[in-house]
Amino acid sequence: MNGSAAVVVPVADHIAASGTIGTDHAREMVRRMVSTDFGRWSEMVRRAGYCRSPIRVHGSVTISDTGRLVYTSEDEPDRTLLIRCGNRRATACPSCSAEYKGDVWHLLKAGATGGMKGVPTSVAQHPKWFVTLTGPSFGAVHGDACGSRRSRSACPHGVSRCDRQHSTDDVVLGDPICSDCYDYSAAIAFNWMAPELWRRYTITARRELANELRITEAEMRKLVRLSYAKVAEFQRRGVVHFHAIVRLDGAGDPYEAPKPIPESLIADALRRAALEVAVELQLGTDRRVHLTFGRQVDVRSVQAAIDGDALTPETVAAYIAKYATKASEDFGLDSTIRTSAAARYAGLRDHVIRMIIAAESLSGTEGFGGIGRWLHMLGFRGHFTTKSRRFSTTLTAPRQARRTWREASDPADRSSCPEVDRDWKFAGLGYLNHGDRLLAESARVEAIEARWLSRLDAA
Ligand SMILES: [Zn+2]
Ligand SMILES: [Zn+2]
Ligand SMILES: [Zn+2]
Repeated sequence: MNGSAAVVVPVADHIAASGTIGTDHAREMVRRMVSTDFGRWSEMVRRAGYCRSPIRVHGSVTISDTGRLVYTSEDEPDRTLLIRCGNRRATACPSCSAEYKGDVWHLLKAGATGGMKGVPTSVAQHPKWFVTLTGPSFGAVHGDACGSRRSRSACPHGVSRCDRQHSTDDVVLGDPICSDCYDYSAAIAFNWMAPELWRRYTITARRELANELRITEAEMRKLVRLSYAKVAEFQRRGVVHFHAIVRLDGAGDPYEAPKPIPESLIADALRRAALEVAVELQLGTDRRVHLTFGRQVDVRSVQAAIDGDALTPETVAAYIAKYATKASEDFGLDSTIRTSAAARYAGLRDHVIRMIIAAESLSGTEGFGGIGRWLHMLGFRGHFTTKSRRFSTTLTAPRQARRTWREASDPADRSSCPEVDRDWKFAGLGYLNHGDRLLAESARVEAIEARWLSRLDAA
């Protein structure tokens, strides 16, 4: 214990007395602030992006040839190096989630407008569409249709309709009007097969376009290509749906202008393909489901210049990127929810618990192998963001660029340089104590404020 310990107690008591922070946490904070290496600790927290739950590692970096030590965590505060958690969920880590969202936005923006990440601005002129594909109905849910006086015959459980007008934040939105009628197994099967439906959609759209042009697919590939980026989103009812930017490219270089094709033909092909794709699946021995996308297919033209109702590429890129981090957060499902019992314990909506129970009961069924690992995703096992190879840069490209930058400014980050040996050992997750976490969080908020103030100054 250093000489500053004597300072800690009175200052900590003062902080604790003035706010909601407990005395123990206040002591932890003050102890950190008066420590001799507080400057380095703050710097490390800043480099980790003020991550809420950084990974603590011990280790060293040595030059391979000479064995010379260039970095060791032994010299760091607590003899530990902090590294970003990389969690994309905003509730888990606002900083890492914002970083991920920014990366997704960049790759979408690059593919939509060009002018960044090595994509030329000419792609802004390529025809593009914003396509939304939803799941079909698995039973009536609370939503826009509620509150109408239209009489419906009662279901076998005696439920006929919902007479209420729901506010937009009503917690029952997306819940089935009759849970006993709702087809939970089919809803789970849809989420489970959604990536396959999307894959078939991209194939069918190309075939439909060739049909529209009255040429073979091989001939079409010599004229134009379709590339895309898509993001999966959960609706309130727990069914996944897709938003995509589809772009028409030339046949050779992906950023080459396509041969002119009437845009309505392409929009028709994109729409028809959505109505056409289907997957057949056996649900146990006595039931077969025919899974399709919903009949409401939205295909909207994206235009570089604002033209009536048309969307701009920037709007679409920002819109889609928003969903990239939203992921499954609307359900409050984090990856620790591995069973319906855990979901119940976490106080989740009854509807979500029933979805998980349906997934659990399908886990022994042929074709559903491994679904148990995707219960927290309600059976959806795809990536939230995917794109065709030609669309734009990859998600790893901005990360690589950032790492290179970090390495240039911090020898501890030379983790990917080929000429060094690195030896890292996992020491733990999160800050050493709650006081450290509070300090990091307040530093994060301060950094955001400072950024805003500097923008105001510049304006
Ligand atoms: Zn983080
Ligand atoms: Zn209702
Ligand atoms: Zn019913």
